Amino acid sequence: MTTVSLCETFTSIQGESSWVGLSCFFIRLAGCNLRCRYCDTACAYADGRPVAVRELVAQAGASPAPLVEITGGEPLLQAGFRELSLGLRDLAGKRVLVETNGSMDISLAPERVIVIMDVKCPGSGQDRAMDLRNVERLRPCDEVKFVLTDERDYDWARRFVEEHRLTSRCNAVFFSPVFGVLDPKRLAEWIVRDGLSARLQAQFHKVLGVP
Ligand code: SF4
Repeated sequence: MTTVSLCETFTSIQGESSWVGLSCFFIRLAGCNLRCRYCDTACAYADGRPVAVRELVAQAGASPAPLVEITGGEPLLQAGFRELSLGLRDLAGKRVLVETNGSMDISLAPERVIVIMDVKCPGSGQDRAMDLRNVERLRPCDEVKFVLTDERDYDWARRFVEEHRLTSRCNAVFFSPVFGVLDPKRLAEWIVRDGLSARLQAQFHKVLGVP
């Protein structure tokens, strides 16, 4: 019986990505190999509790939410990730997303499981942890997210998008301000000024005050 180390499950509104606003069943796996300065999920650093993959798949299948997201922590660290994602993918009527911090090989995600990959900016303190080979591994269905602390992060992210032609490699590129640190209006002004094809993304779940 395959297990994964679980932090928590919960149902909420999807606050990020192209599926923002949809009801989503979240599976937060335990453990993270990074320590971002702005991290708001330090609860996922702990070991978690072992839960059978088939039990999580059954819970997701019983949820009325059309979306299922595997998140963390860093979900790709777990040996049971692939079996979990395959089990969820085969549920009828569900779209499956996986959020990853960009430091692990994203090709672990099976076909039809959509990767939402962070590219860590200097303000995170973790920009050197990125596995740059992931840029080549992106599929047209995948999405990329930059979480920005300040204008230095914005300039760094803008150059990264241009150098790697990111908007032509994946479904969408999002620039997201650190909640309560960078004013989204300033980020909007920079994006408009520079005519970027990256999309501004506020963390909608935080605007609503839900998990
Ligand atoms: S990758 Fe995510 S969970 Fe890990 S430290 Fe950074 S923000 Fe926190």
